[in-house]
Amino acid sequence: MTELATAPRDRPTPQIARISHWIGGTLVAGDSGRSGPVYNPATGEQTGAVDFATAAEVDRAVQVARETFTTWRTVSLSRRSEIMFRLRQLVDAHREDLARILTAEHGKVLSDAMGEVARGLEVIEFACGIPTLLKGGFSEQVSTGIDVYSIRQPLGVVAGITPFNFPAMVPMWMFAPAIACGNTFILKPSEKDPSASLLMARLMQEAGLPDGVFNVVHGDKVAVEALLEHPGVSAVSFVGSTPIARFVYETGTRHGKRVQALGGAKNHMIVLPDADVDMAADAAVSAAFGSAGERCMAVSQVVTVGDVADRLVEAIRVRLPKIKVGAGTEPDVEMGPLITREHRDRVASYIEQGREQGATVVADGRETAPEGDGFFLGVSLLDNVTPEMDAYRDEIFGPVLGVTRVETYEEALRLVNENPYGNGTAIFTRDGGVARQFQFDVEAGMVGVNVPIPVPVAYYSFGGWKASLFGDSHIYGPEGITFYTRGKVVTSRWPDPATSKVDLGFPQTR
Ligand code: NAD
Repeated sequence: MTELATAPRDRPTPQIARISHWIGGTLVAGDSGRSGPVYNPATGEQTGAVDFATAAEVDRAVQVARETFTTWRTVSLSRRSEIMFRLRQLVDAHREDLARILTAEHGKVLSDAMGEVARGLEVIEFACGIPTLLKGGFSEQVSTGIDVYSIRQPLGVVAGITPFNFPAMVPMWMFAPAIACGNTFILKPSEKDPSASLLMARLMQEAGLPDGVFNVVHGDKVAVEALLEHPGVSAVSFVGSTPIARFVYETGTRHGKRVQALGGAKNHMIVLPDADVDMAADAAVSAAFGSAGERCMAVSQVVTVGDVADRLVEAIRVRLPKIKVGAGTEPDVEMGPLITREHRDRVASYIEQGREQGATVVADGRETAPEGDGFFLGVSLLDNVTPEMDAYRDEIFGPVLGVTRVETYEEALRLVNENPYGNGTAIFTRDGGVARQFQFDVEAGMVGVNVPIPVPVAYYSFGGWKASLFGDSHIYGPEGITFYTRGKVVTSRWPDPATSKVDLGFPQTR
């Protein structure tokens, strides 16, 4: 037997890049002997092998982050802000480098990858304002000679556990505000597309961030559990699927941590009879098939009200053959492959299941997928989808758009509100009164009015309701600052010692 044949199956072969941890400002090769494959989804080839950390390796990262916290929390707000400004400049200058890594490992088209970096950059820009964001309150003379003021202080070591679908933006949602607040940070990126985290680490170092403030440990369940159980980790931000979000929330809180865990989604777009049909069709197609439907804010379900159904389905149908599917590096391609072969096959299974369960398959992406070994699927449209069908109930997370037909606005609203998820939703109408009523009534965290993907700008916070969020805090924006700090209120007086006396009464202000 050759040496290669006897090597463990998940061991990197020489032509496959090894992707290591980043601890204390340097690359640290994993010593667990375990790794995971990283693919180029457009070709199906394995391009990398990412080290999987053990609990002991996670512990090493936590120790470094804890030691660094003692000094990082003393760094002035203006210096922290200056580093964020430099990071902003560097990420901006390296937009394309980051985007190329995203396209190579995730598969999304380059223009979409550039968009991802741009939206992450907004959160770094927000974090540049940390001196203002951490301003406390001050009340003079709450009682004679007594002042009260409030401050917010960092928590310590915080961890971020992120999904495959936004390998740069979602980490930026977390580390930029967390670090600006004075915490040190350990990122556990998705093992499917881990390389962007290492370029971001280098840019932070170049921006002047002290070594040990930002660390990356790669891995799977073992690394995640080690972070959740480690007494040295104070808080955990998680973004990913609902079952893991629930697990992370329950395990992290059981171990005394503050946790925000954002989960999956099933985003409905309601189209009323008065909507502009072409505009609604453009929006539905863009929001359903952008990034091959692998967005937590993708529109996966259109709900047509009344007689708009036939017109809208036809308007969507005619748009589908024009969507160019292929490798994300090709300039005119609009939709890339899915993340893995298994995920592609799982997504494709909903088309057949939908047909068997009574949906009308208007477009079948299996017939239009580009040939080759890439993890491609064309775009699919299922009409007459009903709430009992798997294609309605599950988060498909791929380029399969369902249409459910109802007669009234109330029925459409009920569908959204009865859904276990509550991430994003949108309404398309020209009636301002109905739109206002919808935003008042609907049970979802992010609402679009004639906007299909209502991802909030960085100075608002992002988060869903129901099974789309476990914990109390939304992510980034003002709630991000609150999440990554804890409040302290100081009551202070500077009396003349000559007036001092013993008084066993409870302090009163009058
Ligand atoms: P995922 O839940 O499989 O993985 C997310 C993270 O959890 C990864 O870092 C992964 O390594 C880790 N993980 C996976 N299995 C684990 C286990 N058994 N124990 C501990 N850790 C585990 O999610 P994904 O497939 O990478 O991402 C897609 C999902 O993320 C979709 O459901 C999507 O809706 C969701 N998402 C939600 C938001 C949001 O803001 N709500 C944003 C992006 C993605």
